[in-house]
Amino acid sequence: MSQTRMIFRLISQLPLQQVGQSVRMMSSSSSTKQLAGKVAIITASTDGIGYSIAERLGQDGAKVMISSRKQKNVDSSLQKLKSLGIEASGLVCHVAKREDRAKMIQKTLDDFGGIDIFVSNAAANPHFGPLLSCSEEAWDKIFETNVKATFLLCKEIIPHMEKRGGGSIVIVSSIGGYQPSPVIGAYSVSKTALLGLTKALVHECSTRNIRVNGIAPGVIKTRFSEQLWKDEESPVSQMAKNMTPMKRFGEPKECAGTVSFLVSDDASYITGETILVTGGVDARL
Ligand code: NAP
Repeated sequence: MSQTRMIFRLISQLPLQQVGQSVRMMSSSSSTKQLAGKVAIITASTDGIGYSIAERLGQDGAKVMISSRKQKNVDSSLQKLKSLGIEASGLVCHVAKREDRAKMIQKTLDDFGGIDIFVSNAAANPHFGPLLSCSEEAWDKIFETNVKATFLLCKEIIPHMEKRGGGSIVIVSSIGGYQPSPVIGAYSVSKTALLGLTKALVHECSTRNIRVNGIAPGVIKTRFSEQLWKDEESPVSQMAKNMTPMKRFGEPKECAGTVSFLVSDDASYITGETILVTGGVDARL
């Protein structure tokens, strides 16, 4: 007999009052917040994928520290999160600025008492066009924001996770990290470096009970990628959609769901992994 049929048969043999009680027990256990008691820092989290991750981890029960470069964006996102009943705090943090990173970490410790989860989501891409036309300044900005700041934040946050007995890091890479795009070559190379960083951190983090994973989004409907999806009838949008097996672009919450899984106990034996969130586009060998 299938498990489902067995459950229905058992339920049908119970007195009605007891059935109600069992259903209540099932629903209360399924609503247990899986990240209750955890503290999460998410960078670049006042819009797009980062905001969506903050909202989801907050709904999962975590206290969330949000940040971005502009105070007004921090304020409006905090208001949104709080209106959803999420325990959130926030400040301005440009990830490439050492003092901003230090302030963000200190504020998290002051407001929430520790750090269990870190999502490195910030990225810059000041250069569109052929790779060989990328200036040294643009190259430096891309690598400083996307790679160096991610590494430094991991280095700065890991000792605080150790004090909590462990933690979980998620690094936001890109499908471009596996297959460089011809028009965003330097950005793509920086995202390949993040795939490497995710793996390179595994050994030292595992001995500290910290898991390090990543996500590699495809085209996700945010401001960052709006030229690809805003006008869905445009040739470039049609082409991008046709190259996607699921024939649609992704939503920020679809990245957030994957991060929620990666930082949860359901992923307790997963580390060094980067999950594609691409609607089926797979540029890996
Ligand atoms: P987005 O919608 O443009 O959001 C960018 C967020 O980052 C905003 O909150 C912005 O706020 C903040 N920000 C920008 N530069 C920052 C910096 N230096 N320090 C701190 N905060 C900063 O971008 P998104 O699409 O969600 O992208 C998020 C991540 O996903 C990036 O790592 C990106 O490479 C990756 N990704 C996106 C796609 C896609 O299709 N959308 C695909 C692959 C990978 P302020 O303006 O206030 O700073």
